[in-house]
Amino acid sequence: MSPIELNKRQDEILEIVKGNGPITGEQIAERLSLTRATLRPDLAILTMAGFLDARPRVGYFYSGKKTGQAVIDSMMNMKVKDFQSIPVVVSENISVYDAICQMFLEDVGTLFVVDKNAYLTGVLSRKDLLRTSIGNQDLHNIPVHIIMTRMPNIAFCLKTDGLIQAANKLIERQIDALPVVIEHPDGYEVIGRLTKTNITRAFLSLADNHDL
Ligand code: ADP
Repeated sequence: MSPIELNKRQDEILEIVKGNGPITGEQIAERLSLTRATLRPDLAILTMAGFLDARPRVGYFYSGKKTGQAVIDSMMNMKVKDFQSIPVVVSENISVYDAICQMFLEDVGTLFVVDKNAYLTGVLSRKDLLRTSIGNQDLHNIPVHIIMTRMPNIAFCLKTDGLIQAANKLIERQIDALPVVIEHPDGYEVIGRLTKTNITRAFLSLADNHDL
C-alpha cells in the first residue's frame, strides 16, 4: 500500500477511535462538533486505507495497522517545517573574527550569509572559519564573503520538502546544514536551518511516537 497523508481531521478521528472504539459515526461526529455527513468522506478514506474497520451496528474500531507500515507512513509524511531550527544569519561584510564570535554566541555550527536585501549569498561552516584562522591572518580584516561558500553552489530546501529529501541532500553534499528558504523572483529569503541534529530529533520522535 502506498503511504497516504492524513489531514488534521482524519488524525483526530483516528485518535478518537483509538481511545474509544468501537464507536459509531454519530458519536465521532458529536465529539468533533460536526455532522455525520461531513465526516463521511474522512471515515471512508480511513476505512479504505486500512486504518479503521467498520462493523454494522457496532461502529468503527482501530485496525491496529502493522507497526512497520505505520512507521513508514509517518516517515514519508515528515516535513522540513516540522523539524527546522531558527537560522543564524550574518551580513557579507562582517569579519571572520566576528563570525567566529557569532558561532560561539549562537551555539550553531553553520552561519548563513545574506546581502543587504536579506537574500542568501553564502554559507560559513566551522572548518571554513578554522581554515582561515590557522593561516595566521588578521581575522578582523577579512570579510566573510572572501571565504564563504557562495551561491549558486549552496544546497537549500523548502519548508514543505520531505525530511527524507532534505536528509539526502545533507548526505550527498557531505554538509551539516541546509538553509530553509522562500524563493522570491530576485533571491532566496532564509527562514530556517535544517541540520543533522534536526534529522536525529526526527528519528527519535519517530521511535517515540511508535513506542519503539
Ligand atoms: P565543516 O566544514 O565544519 O565540516 P560542513 O560539512 O557543513 O561543515 O561544510 C563543509 C563545506 O561545505 C564548507 O566549506 C561549507 O562552507 C560548505 N557548506 C556547508 N553547508 C553548505 C550548503 N548548504 N550548501 C553548500 N555548501 C555548504
